[in-house]
Amino acid sequence: MCGIVAYVGYKQAYPILIKGLERLEYRGYDSAGVALLNHGLKTYKIPGKVAELKRFLEDKDLDGNLGIAHTRWATHGEPNFTNAHPHYSQTKSLSIIHNGIIENYALLKEELIKRGYTFNSDTDTEVLVNLIEDIQLNEQVLLDEAVRIALNQVVGAYAIVILSADSPNTIIAARKGSPLVIGIGDDDFYVASDATPIVEYTKNVVYLEDEEVAVLTRGEKLKLRDIKNHEKTPYIQQLEMNLSELEKGGYEHFMLKEINEQSRSVKDSMRGRLNASKALVSLGGIVDYEQTILAANRIVIVACGTSWHAGLVGEYLFEDLARIPVEVEYASEFRYRNPIINEGDVVLAISQSGETADTLAAIELAKSKGAIILGICNVVGSSIARATHAGSYTHAGPEIGVASTKAFTAQVTVLTLMALRLAELKGTIPRSRFIRLLHELEDLPNKIERVLDDKGATKFIASQFKDVHNFLYLGRGYNFPVALEGALKLKEISYIHAEGYPAAEMKHGPIALIDENMPVVFIATSKGIYDKVVSNIMEVKARSGKIIAVVTEGDTTVRELADYVIEIPETEEMLIPMLATIPLQKLAYYIAVMRGCNVDMPRNLAKSVTVE
Ligand code: GLU
Repeated sequence: MCGIVAYVGYKQAYPILIKGLERLEYRGYDSAGVALLNHGLKTYKIPGKVAELKRFLEDKDLDGNLGIAHTRWATHGEPNFTNAHPHYSQTKSLSIIHNGIIENYALLKEELIKRGYTFNSDTDTEVLVNLIEDIQLNEQVLLDEAVRIALNQVVGAYAIVILSADSPNTIIAARKGSPLVIGIGDDDFYVASDATPIVEYTKNVVYLEDEEVAVLTRGEKLKLRDIKNHEKTPYIQQLEMNLSELEKGGYEHFMLKEINEQSRSVKDSMRGRLNASKALVSLGGIVDYEQTILAANRIVIVACGTSWHAGLVGEYLFEDLARIPVEVEYASEFRYRNPIINEGDVVLAISQSGETADTLAAIELAKSKGAIILGICNVVGSSIARATHAGSYTHAGPEIGVASTKAFTAQVTVLTLMALRLAELKGTIPRSRFIRLLHELEDLPNKIERVLDDKGATKFIASQFKDVHNFLYLGRGYNFPVALEGALKLKEISYIHAEGYPAAEMKHGPIALIDENMPVVFIATSKGIYDKVVSNIMEVKARSGKIIAVVTEGDTTVRELADYVIEIPETEEMLIPMLATIPLQKLAYYIAVMRGCNVDMPRNLAKSVTVE
């Protein structure tokens, strides 16, 4: 969580920092701050959003060629002025920004207090900056050496950038567990939590590895060492991202833009991987591991949140098409429950950001037990992409809205391609069906266009239900994960309580909730166990529940029963999640907007969950 931006060079630092914070605000936004070095260290911070910081700074002296900036997602201490970053060290000669959690901060703090340190904030971050200062003063070492010694004492996760009042040309950056990217300019450096604040200045970047410390001095080469003081050679990569992808493009919110991009993003996910007329499907990133996957006893999918829902669709796809047993695990549970993983098991990690802390930890655990690790990530060069043996990017383009939309459909696209390729290799589906599915998949972006153009239907339904307190989402088979995802979207951005359930499970509990005030969203498409879902709809209707149904174009049975219907084009059963999820994203979006919620930055959430 949290956004980090830093600059050292010959340009004015502030405009770069504030623009960078705006780009990163999706990562955390409960407070924001900047420190600049200009004849001494100046720190400005506020509880609140970047726009408020910008207003607060309008009349301030913001001169300086060196600076650090932060948007916080509080872990230690409430989001207030004193806990906002940057944090000074005791003598005010150092200033730090930090993303992550120092787990042994209480112990370190106790020792520092014994040595006379006092603390202004409740954060773990202030402990770290004072530890660094204490080492620097006691051991008489340079700042980068003090940082290395301090980080050897730290348990937890960090991405940090430090400024020193005594070093007007240098900033120091380090990471473990939380991401950090360094942009290399002609004679200057940019640092950020992801590449979005950097892309307009340089395409040359270095992704810091865990336990690396970078010394960035303007006009000099990047110096890299690990915390054990071994010199490292920076691996400079070229960014592929382009600037226009990071703008709202005329939409009111990033989320709406990203929902509407799904026809293109699904096409991008398939680009170069699918050619139906030649009956070809292949994923370059995993070609070398195809036989390994086929030989595996099972695939274990690990993920969190929306990616976990995509993983559930993956389970249905892999089992249905390729007849490979699959288990889908919450990464946060998997990592702490001593799971049985045998050598040769395949673990598939799914994460939009590629930085999800629990998923990364699950990967490390599975790796230590000898599993082959594959990844599906959206962010190129992310930690998960680098920690896996092989994988496929979703290529959905940057997703800025906190509630995931196009990343989900892109993840499902990649899972579908994988399942089809494995089915082909294993011969588990007839050739004719295989080819039909490829054609249908190739045509899906056109059908997504039709779903997106719903002539105001979801907006109207949203207006009818914007004031309710609860929602139930029900679906079966491939539509069960869709129900979960629909409910999650609504919760995330509108703060309405919503639950997703397998429709038949309703009788085992949730049916007790149904009365005339309970809207129930059924994903009742014509394939699969349609008749059974129709019976479930009858059960809700008999109890006066309000029924909103996602149906296949031309459906008449459900149309007669439901209060409101949203139509989607007919497609193969296993491809329905990619169509049926979209109206549910739109429903959540419009309800949230009508309730006055900030859909791109919902309260308490952050886009990239880099703390556990
Ligand atoms: N643990 C630090 C804090 O609570 C950093 C949180 C963040 O990543 O924003 O201030």
